[in-house]
Amino acid sequence: MPLSFDFRVDDLTGAREELREVVGNAGTALTQTGEAGPSLLPAQIDAPPLGATFFIETFGCQMNAHDSEKVAGVLLGRGYRQVEDLNSAKVVFYNTCSIREKAAQKVFSRLGEYRKHPGHGKIIGVLGCVAQQEGEEIFERAPWVSLVCGSASYSKLPALLAQLEAGNRRVTGLDTDTDETFETEITRRDNPFRAYLTIIEGCDKSCSYCVVPYTRGPERSRSSASVLQEVRKLADAGYSEIQLLGQTVNSYRDPMLRGMTRGMTFAELLVAVAAVPGIRRVRFTTSHPRDFSRDIVEAIDSVPELCDHVHLPVQSGSTRVLRSMQRTYSREEYLEKIALIRSARRPISVTSDIIVGFPGETEEDLADTLSLLDAAQYDGVFAFQYSPRPNTSSLQMADTIPEQEKGRRLAVVQDRQREIQIVRNNELVGQTFEVLVDGASRRPGQWAGRSSSNRILNFSSPHSDLLGQYIQVRVTGASPNSLIGEQVI
Ligand code: SAM
Ligand code: SF4
Repeated sequence: MPLSFDFRVDDLTGAREELREVVGNAGTALTQTGEAGPSLLPAQIDAPPLGATFFIETFGCQMNAHDSEKVAGVLLGRGYRQVEDLNSAKVVFYNTCSIREKAAQKVFSRLGEYRKHPGHGKIIGVLGCVAQQEGEEIFERAPWVSLVCGSASYSKLPALLAQLEAGNRRVTGLDTDTDETFETEITRRDNPFRAYLTIIEGCDKSCSYCVVPYTRGPERSRSSASVLQEVRKLADAGYSEIQLLGQTVNSYRDPMLRGMTRGMTFAELLVAVAAVPGIRRVRFTTSHPRDFSRDIVEAIDSVPELCDHVHLPVQSGSTRVLRSMQRTYSREEYLEKIALIRSARRPISVTSDIIVGFPGETEEDLADTLSLLDAAQYDGVFAFQYSPRPNTSSLQMADTIPEQEKGRRLAVVQDRQREIQIVRNNELVGQTFEVLVDGASRRPGQWAGRSSSNRILNFSSPHSDLLGQYIQVRVTGASPNSLIGEQVI
């Protein structure tokens, strides 16, 4: 049963992640916007355009959410005003995800809603991975679309918008051979405490199941000078938590600017971001195991502002399957990285992604994944059923595992991980965590926030004005996906 919810401030805070199953769900865990999203009301479509307003709906991962913030920044910079109601928007953008088939289908069902009332004076744009993947085909399938732009070409968005404003009917940005990263003068950020910041775009790995290298283009890192300049601006604007983003964030390579003898390593950049006055927490996601090095653990150990959480997706516990996935590490090499993290002086929480039902996965391979869960002792896992994707090399392999069997394997993985989380979370009862308060909990009368280790805490407090504050919370109870506590007064 797909989970779906609107993309709003609490998605950016991560608080909504509480709603999705931390132990994964059938291939839709990354979908932040879905079936329950806004639908077109014919009566309102007929209303005259209300001027320079835009609406943007985001599907997919945190990188997409942040790309939408930057796209919103471009539009705000051109004098548009953002509206929450699709029907009153002059420009409607869908920022899409194609990581799994179900995610890609969603945008076409959205576009299909215009069939009876094509456009009605609106500019409709498709952005992101589906745009890159389907290209101009989208104009064939949905002639009411006027802009198609993949994420590798977002730096061209202002020019594309200008062309539409000048009366062009259809514009595209589909190049991937760009060195540029997408930096904007204005980035709208929907959470007043936590800011996302992309430091590396695209991906140079070639995992056999993954569309990202195709849809997001080659790896491009942003200069450390420009990253730090933005972090200082964010700190001045009152943000205290920074989340550095990249598909393989730790593969970061500082581009050598004039006058530099060498660029910063990823670990050095983490330390430098953490040193910016006003910054209290620095997160980073997603790390690739191959490039995960000791200096990152040493940095976390020595700099308290660096959050004690690493998301290190393994994908499978079987070296045979990992080879077939072209993940560039074996089970043993991965577990060495886990041992490195566990050797830190302060406990670091570790989370992961797993794919079940990859072509040729045997019962023995599945058993290897289950035993890896036991060995790694993750604090959370997003598990997915393998979904064959266009332009990936695994498409050449027969998709041997029936969907029903993939579902069974997913449940087996989720059940095992759930047991692990019950034990791990119960061990935390009695401990005290510093929590950044995100908002009201779904539990009546309680607040919700996250620890540095990215654990969700729902807690009681006598205070009524805690939003955005860092407070101490003692854990009094545990469930598989979150902790319950009370403020330490
Ligand atoms: N760059 C990250 C890494 O290497 O771990 C992952 C990025 S991807 C957006 C997020 C997750 O989606 C992956 O870790 C993988 O588990 C899952 N995923 C990617 N392609 C998939 C596919 N074809 N079928 C099922 N899950 C997939
Ligand atoms: Fe996809 Fe692999 Fe790149 Fe991650 S590292 S984005 S899974 S190709």
